[in-house]
Amino acid sequence: MCARMPGLMRIYNTLTRSVEELEPIEPGHVRLYTCGPTVYDYAHIGNFRAYVWEDLLRRTLKLLGFRVTQVMNITDIEDKIIKKMNDEGLTLDQATRPYIDAFFEDIETLRIERAEHYPRATDHIEEMLEITAALEKRGLTYESQGSLYFKIDAFEGYGRLSNLDNREVKSGARVDSDEYDKDDARDFVLWKGHREGEVSWPSPYGEGRPGWHLECSAMSMKYLGESFDLHTGGVDNIFPHHENEIAQSEGATGKPFVRYWMHAAHLMVDGEKMAKSKGNFYTLRDLLEKGHAPRAIRLLLLGTYYRGPLNFTFEGLAKATSEVQRLDDMVVRLEREPAGADGNDEDFDSRVAARVDEFKQALANDLNISSALGAVFGTVREVHQALDKGELPSGSRETLAGAMDVFHSVLDLAADTDAGLDAEIEALIEQRNEARKARNFAESDRIRDELTARGILLEDTPQGTVWKRKL
Ligand code: AMP
Ligand code: ZN
Repeated sequence: MCARMPGLMRIYNTLTRSVEELEPIEPGHVRLYTCGPTVYDYAHIGNFRAYVWEDLLRRTLKLLGFRVTQVMNITDIEDKIIKKMNDEGLTLDQATRPYIDAFFEDIETLRIERAEHYPRATDHIEEMLEITAALEKRGLTYESQGSLYFKIDAFEGYGRLSNLDNREVKSGARVDSDEYDKDDARDFVLWKGHREGEVSWPSPYGEGRPGWHLECSAMSMKYLGESFDLHTGGVDNIFPHHENEIAQSEGATGKPFVRYWMHAAHLMVDGEKMAKSKGNFYTLRDLLEKGHAPRAIRLLLLGTYYRGPLNFTFEGLAKATSEVQRLDDMVVRLEREPAGADGNDEDFDSRVAARVDEFKQALANDLNISSALGAVFGTVREVHQALDKGELPSGSRETLAGAMDVFHSVLDLAADTDAGLDAEIEALIEQRNEARKARNFAESDRIRDELTARGILLEDTPQGTVWKRKL
């Protein structure tokens, strides 16, 4: 029997500036590298826009039938981490561990599916020095004052990804910081010579530490091979980070590094990029403390096409909350109005099948999330219309359940269910009804308050008391 071939996936490739079909080196298996967090503080929701979008990409590829091997690095040595260590008198472990732990908690809260590998930079110093040795051999480096630099004019094609103009390249001039602008396109640092009070590792160039760009070249090629399929990040990564990764990797191996590059636009606040340095950021924890639901935050970050900027507002978050509530309300209504008949409503089934198709097609078209969500909420409308007309037979409910499974395999926005907890809540509602019958209103109010405190909202209807979870 032949294996199922994955469906077509079309993506916008930053390298070619066009929409292309994704054709992995190994048919059916996408090797994906996603630049990960620098762990000197909590990630802000701008960072999570990038990670949630990468989750959308990963899950879409899987829905279309691809196998995905994803690597997300943890940058645990970098200029900002060194600064934090020096400012606060911390060891490397003290400066980074709390934020590594927080990162994994946060991605779980946002239902970001785990990558296959989360390598840490400090565990890959050896691999980084193998790259610098190969670059040295090919005449692409030079040393100056204890640091090693990449000679950009010795590498043909420097600037291809970021469309750098020849005039912008200042060969021979050096830049030591990891982050700089296009108008500072100079020879960049691969290995930074040791400075008093800084953590360091031995190397052929003396004690020192790696530059940030080198870290990603080493970790991506170690886990995905010298040539792999897809590399992603935010648009701020295009230059210099990804440009330098290409130069280092291709310079060292002589092989093409990555075929497809994808970049997400920024999460903005009042027209500016959300960034720690600007102080205009919210962490996930800030929003949870204000009572916002993780699923609503996930939908907010997911819900805008990744190549367009997303402006963060609390109105936007409130809208995402009500959309998640619409999904939950449909589930509650279906439970409350059980199927009266067996069999299928063929019309309903075929309309739902068309929505599923629309959902897949939209995502396969460079992750067109607006159309994909249109298909989901269109389905929700179909369900309410069918229930308004009378009923939805049991076979069609199964069709619907299958469709919702497809939607949530990518969106992952369904409410958590816990049968034990549901039974406990229903028992409390029963006790409250008993108390009300006995006109013991103090007790019935106490039970309602207890449920409210647990996020359960009650509604007394002519058919009895119904409940739903507050998001
Ligand atoms: P950093 O920890 O700054 O290296 O960022 C980690 C990831 O988050 C990178 O892929 C960045 O491109 C991305 N990123 C940072 N700020 C934002 C933002 N405001 N909106 C979207 N992505 C961002
Ligand atoms: Zn990176």
